[in-house]
Amino acid sequence: MTRSTPAPPRIAVLGSTNMDLVAYVPRAPRLGETVTGRAFRTVPGGKGANQAVAAARAGARVSMLGAVGSDDLGPRLRAALAESGVDTTLLRTADGPSGTAHIVVDDDGGNAIVVVPGANASVTGLTPEDEARIAAADALLLQLELPLDAVIAGARAARRHGVRTVLTPAPARPLPRELLALVDLLVPNEHEANALSGAADPRAAADGLLRDVPEVVVTLGAAGSLYAARGARPVTVPSRPVRAVDTTAAGDTFTGALAVALAEGRPVPDALAWASAAAALSVGRAGASSSMPYREEIDALTG
Ligand code: ADP
Repeated sequence: MTRSTPAPPRIAVLGSTNMDLVAYVPRAPRLGETVTGRAFRTVPGGKGANQAVAAARAGARVSMLGAVGSDDLGPRLRAALAESGVDTTLLRTADGPSGTAHIVVDDDGGNAIVVVPGANASVTGLTPEDEARIAAADALLLQLELPLDAVIAGARAARRHGVRTVLTPAPARPLPRELLALVDLLVPNEHEANALSGAADPRAAADGLLRDVPEVVVTLGAAGSLYAARGARPVTVPSRPVRAVDTTAAGDTFTGALAVALAEGRPVPDALAWASAAAALSVGRAGASSSMPYREEIDALTG
């Protein structure tokens, strides 16, 4: 007897696509000063694109919605997404520069970052094609690196079509109730949970956030994650022990994998454990989206 393989879940990501321009320096320059760097790297990033890569590598059919610029970074950003299997046919090309993050990393690992939204700022709403893609998805992943109008339009479309909306509230900022009312699952890190709820303790923060959204996962770095839902007992999941090499995009890896596991209908504790394994794999190697694991690796780790 052959067992039929279930179709992979469909995930739409409406979010940012940036090129990270990273200079490694002995120490960061002060205003007016020039320092000579040790090395330079360009790394495809943006929280939207990172979550798209994480979800695609974790096994979903992923559509990236948003925009790259008409500069020479645009095709490179598009190609990087496509290389991980992300569908970029609805990713627009806006006149002008692509989004960039200008990052200085010093010898102690400290960093300073300037983000220039570029093409991302041109995304202020949805096209009918975007809406149709959201309608066909099992989940919509949102973050806060696009104009808020676009984020709200995406969440509204998802609600209209009964699609689960997962919001990563980063970078942290006050959120209109109108947006929170459209969110099914909120995934802040500890800092964002604190900023949104005013509570320092993650459990208290999650409790506070449940007034606005039905489900919350607070990620706690090496301490794991905490799931809370209205009327249910909170679940704490430890992280996977790993020698941390590079924690960049740990949260995006976690969220992308979590969305895939939930869309496959896995129970929450299993989905959290699987997402933690995905994040641990990415933390254990250098790189942002390039270090994100493929489904087979996550399965191998979780047995
Ligand atoms: P963000 O990257 O958004 O700040 P976190 O730092 O909370 O998010 O990390 C997200 C998830 O990645 C955690 O819930 C955990 O599962 C995993 N993780 C992060 N740091 C580590 C670490 N040092 N060791 C193992 N897992 C980690």
